Amino acid sequence: MLRRRPLSAALFLASVVTVATSAATLQPPEQFLGFKVGADNKLARWDRIVEYMKLADANSDRVRFRELGKTSNNNPFIALEISAPETLKNLDRYKNLARRLYFQGGAPADAERDEIFRQGKLVLLITCSIHATEIGASQMALELVHRLATDDSPAVKKILDNVIFVLVPSLNPDGQIMVTDWFNKNVGTEYANSPIPYLYHPYVGHDNNRDMYMFTQKESQHTARLLWHDWFPAVWLDEHQMGSSGARIFVMPATDPINPNVHPLIYRWNGILGQSQAAALEAAGKEGIIYNSTYTNFWEGAMAWSGWWHNQIGLLTEVASARVAAPIEQVRAVPGRPSTGSGAPAAPAPSGGRGEGPGRFDNSPLAAPTDITSRTEYPRPWLGGRWTLRDIVDYELIATMGLLEAAADRRETIMRQIYEVNRQTIEAGRRNRPSAILVPIEGQHDPREAAHLVDRLQMGGVEVHRADAAFEADGRLYAAGTFVIQMAQVFSRYAKDMLEKQTYPEVRRGPNAPPEPPYDVTAWSLGMLLGVDTVVVNNPLPAVKLTKLEGLPKLPGEITGTGTRFTFDYKGPDTAIAINRLLKDGGRLAFEAASRVSVTGLSRGKVEQVAKEFGLAVKANPEPRTRNPEPRTNPEPRTRNPEPRANPEPRTPNPEPPPSGGPFHAPRVAMYQPWTGGNMDEGWTRWVLEQYEFNLTAIHNADIRAGRLRQQFDAIIIADQNARDIVDGYEAPTIRPEYRGGIGEAGVEQLKQFVAEGGTLITMGNACDLAIERLPIAVRNLKRGLTRDQHFAPGTILKIEVDTQHPLGYGTAADTFGFYVNSPFFSVVEGFSSHRTNVIARYPNTDVVASGWLRGEELMAGRAAIVSVDLNPGRVILFGLRPQHRAQTHATFPLLFNALWASAPGDAPPKTSN
Ligand SMILES: [Zn+2]
Repeated sequence: MLRRRPLSAALFLASVVTVATSAATLQPPEQFLGFKVGADNKLARWDRIVEYMKLADANSDRVRFRELGKTSNNNPFIALEISAPETLKNLDRYKNLARRLYFQGGAPADAERDEIFRQGKLVLLITCSIHATEIGASQMALELVHRLATDDSPAVKKILDNVIFVLVPSLNPDGQIMVTDWFNKNVGTEYANSPIPYLYHPYVGHDNNRDMYMFTQKESQHTARLLWHDWFPAVWLDEHQMGSSGARIFVMPATDPINPNVHPLIYRWNGILGQSQAAALEAAGKEGIIYNSTYTNFWEGAMAWSGWWHNQIGLLTEVASARVAAPIEQVRAVPGRPSTGSGAPAAPAPSGGRGEGPGRFDNSPLAAPTDITSRTEYPRPWLGGRWTLRDIVDYELIATMGLLEAAADRRETIMRQIYEVNRQTIEAGRRNRPSAILVPIEGQHDPREAAHLVDRLQMGGVEVHRADAAFEADGRLYAAGTFVIQMAQVFSRYAKDMLEKQTYPEVRRGPNAPPEPPYDVTAWSLGMLLGVDTVVVNNPLPAVKLTKLEGLPKLPGEITGTGTRFTFDYKGPDTAIAINRLLKDGGRLAFEAASRVSVTGLSRGKVEQVAKEFGLAVKANPEPRTRNPEPRTNPEPRTRNPEPRANPEPRTPNPEPPPSGGPFHAPRVAMYQPWTGGNMDEGWTRWVLEQYEFNLTAIHNADIRAGRLRQQFDAIIIADQNARDIVDGYEAPTIRPEYRGGIGEAGVEQLKQFVAEGGTLITMGNACDLAIERLPIAVRNLKRGLTRDQHFAPGTILKIEVDTQHPLGYGTAADTFGFYVNSPFFSVVEGFSSHRTNVIARYPNTDVVASGWLRGEELMAGRAAIVSVDLNPGRVILFGLRPQHRAQTHATFPLLFNALWASAPGDAPPKTSN
């Protein structure tokens, strides 16, 4: 086998001699798989793709295989490095030049800069099929690699000579395996169109493309390292698929609004390179190529988009979908005549991003396309017909080769202009305002979150320093140890965008047209999400010695005093891990007063270990005192908002002071998992609870209907989902019987029984309607019945006020921020006197929005965000806002955790008869 990097001159000669024959040694994918890539109803599974890529490495000196790490399910996450053999032999040198183009290690001197332009290679990253049902690109990758490894045409030679091509054949290998196995299980049966019943990522499903600033998932972390710690590609294309009924492919540029923190040149190159792809497709005679549609240029969080704030040209393609690998028929439109509407309605776009339905369950032909008007963005509309996986592969191959060629042609221009963007970014940070953003440690509600904040920024490639001494900035004094993010750095656009308040620039297509609602979330202000105060500094920083930070900063933890009863403050989510760890170690825990935890029954050494790990200041107390908590003193009424609205939610609604919380044990938590595509909010919740070391059990429709819930669980969580879908689910003869339907009326009765026996039912987002309507409870969902014109929020950070004297409000700051996405907000109404309703968190009377876009703000002012209803003995907790949204909202995680601990009072679960 031909190896790269020969060790001696003799070997080197041998390799040169065999280059010409290397083309013959890498088997074509068709031979390797036994079918042509993209053949109807045929899929290459991830293990076979990995095997082929290893074969390409072994048989071609143009291809290098790397495993970047493991996925969530422990499958290999891989990348290929593809270039001319001479480049691969000196890869470290070229990687260094690519890093220097992004000013890693400081600004290159003029001579080095010119060397980068003359000799450097353009690093271009392509990532495939993050959404696993959008499977075409992961298949296409096989033919692409074969072609680049074996083709000796001038076009391929030019690409190899000018570009270092980094290919990630799947950003979601676990999902690739799930979708392939599900497809193969059902193909040829009556269930061939049965939608995959669970999330196509172990935790987050489609939302895996919303993780590129919090980097919670392993796949996002591998990608972030590749992008901002390893290769620093100047161009990055992420390949997706969209709905089946309209345009055949979307190429860049995307559509308004743009984001003010992105350099305009990045948007220009989005257009140039996207249009190069379009031109290649037109040249090949392909129809249905569109740009300037659907996908907006504003928001953070998606894969290729996140490159823009890093001065990288991030591109997207979206190709029309087949039914995974099965072909689709669509009625042909007649140009000049509107669609007759025969055929089934169009499938929802697989890339819709949020709230996507389960898709269609049958295979009748799609209705004719309705958008058939030729125009600048869409000169040759798609008129309908047959569409197959092979069509997807063809479009993607042409678009990918078109990009590689354009990048090779423009290598030096792109590198010169990217250098300019980087230079100007640093220069602007030196000259303009702000000069820096500070993250103090002192005075934070939870300093551990300040550490998490800078850690996340570092994962995004941002340089963070710590001040070695106290200093003054903008007239204020900061302690030694304060985190400093200087704007004179190459990724300051990203840091600024992440830390400031977002203002969504409204788009109107005409002077009298209504504003268009945003495509996705409009707020990601990281300080607010984590509950961390950040400070923008306008004047130049004084000369103070700074030390560059590496990794997650640790805060010191210790025990003071002597005795066997240990107490510490519960502040922020990391403390929650400490609490769960101590419970697991066999400690007896209690809330003695608001947010004050006591531990007995554990050795000092055990407690000290936890204190050190989580940076806790633990006090050892000599006298073990009785477990019965002291009655709490009545808190001062809150007077933060002097002008009350007409009828605000009662500020001190709790009819009697709640207990301090008292002792609690490790809660037995059930997490409801619906079928038919799964529920992303469920997946995120599960991920968060696992990270914070809660034990949980997934339960399905049949488990709920089977009853005996209280014997098994203290709390049941139902994540954000339409109440009707929870009860009814999806029914169709083409769905596999075991995945049909919802919890049903029998399930509703069992949930009622669970609460009647003392269980805690936790409903999130739209699932709150299930509790409100079916239990019922005396709470009104004010979101209900409002039109999109009256109230709409695709993702906004809101101010909230938390009752931190109530056990369900412990651990958070009294004034903090919550994430809100079109879910209920509440009014408490008259109900049974035996029900005790507590408002745990409410929106302020004025200025509800903290960051992002919201229509109908005034409707939420003064209203309840989180409500707890004690039914004696059971309890229902309604989360209108999303305390765990996409695992980003650390500031409100404790509100969810409290609901779980509160469900498990006493030292052990209650004894129940079977
Ligand atoms: Zn997608």
